[in-house]
Amino acid sequence: MEGPTRAQTGLQQRQARGGILILGGGFAGGYVARLLGKRGSTIVSRENFMLYTPILPEAASGTLEPRHVVVPLRMMCRHSELVLGRAVSLDTAARTVRVETEVSASTAPVGAAEIHYERLVIALGAVARTLPIPGLAEHGLGFKSLADAIYLRNHVLRQLELAEAALSADDAKRHLSFVFVGAGYAGVEALAELSDLLRDTSRFYPGLKDIRQRWVLVDAAPKILPEIPTRLGDYAARELWKRGVDIRVSTTLESVEEHAVTLSDGSRLDTETLVWTAGVKANPIQGRLGLPLDDRGRVVVNSLLQVEGLGDVWALGDGARVPNEATPGRFDPPTCQHALRQARRLAKNLSGTPRPYRYRMLGQVATLGRHKGIADVLGLRLRGFLGWFVTRTYHLYQLPLLTRKLRVVTDWTVSLFFRRDIAELGMLGHPTSLRDDE
Ligand SMILES: Cc1cc2nc3c(=O)[nH]c(=O)nc-3n(C[C@H](O)[C@H](O)[C@H](O)COP(=O)(O)OP(=O)(O)OC[C@H]3O[C@@H](n4cnc5c(N)ncnc54)[C@H](O)[C@@H]3O)c2cc1C
Repeated sequence: MEGPTRAQTGLQQRQARGGILILGGGFAGGYVARLLGKRGSTIVSRENFMLYTPILPEAASGTLEPRHVVVPLRMMCRHSELVLGRAVSLDTAARTVRVETEVSASTAPVGAAEIHYERLVIALGAVARTLPIPGLAEHGLGFKSLADAIYLRNHVLRQLELAEAALSADDAKRHLSFVFVGAGYAGVEALAELSDLLRDTSRFYPGLKDIRQRWVLVDAAPKILPEIPTRLGDYAARELWKRGVDIRVSTTLESVEEHAVTLSDGSRLDTETLVWTAGVKANPIQGRLGLPLDDRGRVVVNSLLQVEGLGDVWALGDGARVPNEATPGRFDPPTCQHALRQARRLAKNLSGTPRPYRYRMLGQVATLGRHKGIADVLGLRLRGFLGWFVTRTYHLYQLPLLTRKLRVVTDWTVSLFFRRDIAELGMLGHPTSLRDDE
């Protein structure tokens, strides 16, 4: 039986379409559903879109319209059905998953569904990995979701306005100081894009002409972008340094206060902005699903991407510990390149005779703001404009849906000729009150 029936208890009973239930509509889950094509599946996701994270920093800087960095799941996976909600528990004996439906950031769940599956795919991804650093949870900003990117952009633009309105040069300097902790892809790309944005906008703030902006990049590792070959990583560091970015490697964050941060090198920096991008950890909800997990909370799968001891449950992506036959003894890192290749293998394994997953990375790419980038593709190491061009071309190729590609190309083309927009839209999500006393 397909389709929902509402039981008297208010609990919806459903059957997964095509018998395949996918938890998580991110890179891994979204691509599995897309690649399953007409076989069909049911996706459970908290959002109705897949976020294309590699271009998220460009949404933060305003180069790309935020809506263009996401792909609506209903368009991307035409033969799948979507249940908007949060998977909360799993009964592997009864082959059912309980989902809290109609959840949003601001409202409590108002419904629940029990979805029956024949085969289950766990693709619940990762969450930001924070440490018990004093003040971090209260004052730090994350950079993982579309909401984070929009918030960060508005926050940075607001700091410009506050600096312009500041009563003293010290206050203005504090507003124009930005500290990023975590020098992987997310931190480096976000810092590069946002510092470009501020450089673009500074001519509209004549009062800030003599106030130096301060951008600080902190990482516990001895170099930035450890995933990238040393020569390209060094180039990225030089590029940032030329723009005045203060790079502090082998350094950790000690504490965060409302208006300052303290680092392990003893320095105390006055700032209103601490962005935390220091790694991810497997989605903690997996701990409640009763699946075998490794010491890092990742679902343990075999080379077929099947969960250990459970023939009808499969897992992939950032939330899974995936062995790769092309790199014996090493598990896949949490990247969308790997999630995509795992999804390709899994869609085939769910449709025919399962074969082991095997993927050798073809390269790595990253942008460093406007017209600068690094790319290590098929042994070719490109940097500068060429690196930037190759990075963009790669993302454009990977982005699903022609309409999305066209929207992104249009945004990129417009940004070649015009500067970024500086409207601060922090009031979005807070509509004007109709009460006449406000
Ligand atoms: C800012 C940023 C930049 C990045 N840049 C790059 C890059 O340039 N190159 C690269 O290779 N990788 C990059 N990555 C990493 C890449 O995004 C991840 O490796 C990839 O998204 C992993 O896919 P996933 O499906 O496992 O997880 P996700 O894409 O995170 O998807 C998990 C999904 O599960 C959903 N979910 C969570 N809990 C529940 C629940 N209880 N019920 C239902 N759904 C739930 C989430 O809402 C989400 O949609 C970047 C990541 C970030 C944050």
